[in-house]
Order: sequence, then C-alpha cells, then structure tokens
Amino acid sequence: MSTSAHLSTDSGSVPAGEGVTDRLVESNRRYAEQFTDPGMDARPVLKVAVVACMDARLDLHAALGLHLGDCHTIRNAGGVVTDDVIRSLTISQRALGTRSVVLVHHTGCGLEKITEGFRDELEQEVGQRPTWAVEAFRDVDQDVRQSMQRVRTSPFLQHTGDVRGFVFDVTTGLLREIDPA
Ligand SMILES: [Zn+2]
Repeated sequence: MSTSAHLSTDSGSVPAGEGVTDRLVESNRRYAEQFTDPGMDARPVLKVAVVACMDARLDLHAALGLHLGDCHTIRNAGGVVTDDVIRSLTISQRALGTRSVVLVHHTGCGLEKITEGFRDELEQEVGQRPTWAVEAFRDVDQDVRQSMQRVRTSPFLQHTGDVRGFVFDVTTGLLREIDPA
C-alpha cells in the first residue's frame, strides 16, 4: 500500500477514525523490528492485578512505574468491578498467581456525566434493553469503595487481603488513596 511509507515518516498526520487501524498496524511493524523475545512467563512478576478505567489520559504503566510482565491490566469504562472483572481477577489469581489487587478510578470520568437512564435511551433507540448496568456514579470516592468491596466479598477470589483503591488526578498525575471504610 502506498500509504505505508507516508505512515512510517509521519504517523501523526493520519486522521483518526477510518484508517486509524492501518496506522496501528504500521506502528506494530516498526515495534516488532525492535522487539526481542523477553522469554517471560505469563505469570505477572509483581503478582498484582490492576483494575482501571479505560480513560485515554491514564497511562497506567507510566503512572505506576510498571514494566512489561509486571502485572495484569484489566480495564473498562470506569474501572468498576463488574462480573467480567471478577472473571478476569479469578483467572488472574487462580491460574496465574496474582495476590494483590489495585483499583484505579480517576477525576473527570465519563461515567460521572451519564446516568442509568442511558439504558432507557438505548432501549428506546434499538428496541432492546441492555442486560448490563451502566455503572454510572456521582461520587468517585464512593465508587472506588464499592469496587473494593466487590473484590473483597467475591467468593471466587482466593486473595482479598491486599486490595487498595485510588483516584488518579488527570491534571496532576497523582494518585489519591481511598480509605475503604
Ligand atoms: Zn473514566
């Protein structure tokens, strides 16, 4: 494809949306050229699973000083502990040896700007009500507490003694720990 050379010299000029995947694939080609197999085991070195919001402003590895192979990273809208997060944590602990859980929500989350009414709107538009909760929230501290509680009380998890929750400030880059009480 004629765009390849262009992409490799100035990937920033490629518009978002259509064509963005081509940009990613081209970036991967360059990544693989430099890549050497680190020979790692699938078990995270630090035995920690990090559950975080999918927010684009949160560079989780950089913000927490994590390196390749250190942790499991489980992300979704809000970083809330849903059944599917419990599924991933259960596999993380029981099959891949993690022991600690770190939860990271953040300031200015999109879930603070919508409500559970989002489901009603969806139902009206498409004629089908989603089975999942939106998990919208107004108080980020309280939502972190709820997520910590869901991890601690899950019957499927073996390790619930080291569960800590934080709010990442997208303007300062600092984490603020949330008291579980
Ligand atoms: Zn968010």
